[in-house]
Amino acid sequence: MGLTLSHVSKTYPSGIQAVKDFCLTTDGKEFITVVGPSGCGKTTLLRLIAGLEKGEGDIVMDGRKVNDFSPKERSVAMVFQNYALFPYMNVYDNMAFGLKISGTDKDIIRVKVLEAAQILGLTGELNRRPAELSGGQRQRVALGRAMVLSPKYFLFDEPLSNLDTDLRLELRMQIAELYERLDATFVYVTHDKVEAMTMGTRIVVMQDGKVEQSGTPKHVFDCPANKFVGNFMSFYGMNFITGKLKKDGGCFVEFEDGATLPADELKDYDGNVTVGIRAEDARIVESGDGHLATVVNVEMLGGETLVYASYGGGTLTVKTQKNVTKGDEIVVAFDKEKARFFDPASGKNILWKKENSEY
Ligand code: ATP
Repeated sequence: MGLTLSHVSKTYPSGIQAVKDFCLTTDGKEFITVVGPSGCGKTTLLRLIAGLEKGEGDIVMDGRKVNDFSPKERSVAMVFQNYALFPYMNVYDNMAFGLKISGTDKDIIRVKVLEAAQILGLTGELNRRPAELSGGQRQRVALGRAMVLSPKYFLFDEPLSNLDTDLRLELRMQIAELYERLDATFVYVTHDKVEAMTMGTRIVVMQDGKVEQSGTPKHVFDCPANKFVGNFMSFYGMNFITGKLKKDGGCFVEFEDGATLPADELKDYDGNVTVGIRAEDARIVESGDGHLATVVNVEMLGGETLVYASYGGGTLTVKTQKNVTKGDEIVVAFDKEKARFFDPASGKNILWKKENSEY
């Protein structure tokens, strides 16, 4: 089992190039989460895989080029954000629909629908119509409709976006369980980084139609290829400050305000360096080597607060348990172990090497 997207691009008649030279190869069963900001081309990518859009490049499924295959001829099933259920059909008929139109025997349909309904906790709802169901139940029907087709590739387009937080968590776990149970590859599009991190065996981070980075969630989080990925794959954003690399009795970055940060890893590098630190990794210290900033906003996060402080024409964000209020002067320190180093011109992670990547 394997899906290969080779230099896949899509330009709409309006001239918008929604997907640019996208390459991806899956090996065996994988749960690929595709994450990126709104408009970066995620849905278009799924539609290309499903055969709902035509583009350039090659799409190969299980060794067969499927560029000219219709959606029905590809072993795919899609689950949409808006469920896309037939309102006048009950749950059973919605789930059975795909099999019915493919001419599957009635008894086989029954076995498959009942089995999917049982797995998804829908056995008691089979005679109800979508309007009589909650959002979570509707999305489970949509999942069931995909499951009964036994596709090799499940394509999910932001399936949980319409649900509230609790339901999202519940269905997230249910989809993860389904993945464990089925012999299928999942391609799951989301703009939610928590979903992307927790569900995927591999994350593909997209921006502006292109792949910015692909790798295991841990690798992408720990070793972002560039500033965009570092910031996007952070729960509260990444702070960036540029300084000069000095090699004077050790290697360190010196910032305009005089603060310094050891950077022995950069001993083979020269020039300016943009240091990136996630908000949860920055600290407020009483005094010492850090950046003097003024608190401009404070947000409560239960036991902790998110502090926004103006610094050098920009803003530093710090997650802290310390009690600070608007107008306070604070010193924000960066830990060397948590710092990522980026080239200020290209935004690339100076220490990121392709061979470090698992993909
Ligand atoms: P979102 O997260 O908001 O759903 P997305 O990452 O899924 O966004 P796409 O829906 O694939 O992004 O859109 C990518 C780009 O292509 C956008 O600029 C969008 O406006 C454009 N686009 C999408 N569909 C069409 C279409 N049918 N015709 C023309 N342009 C389109």
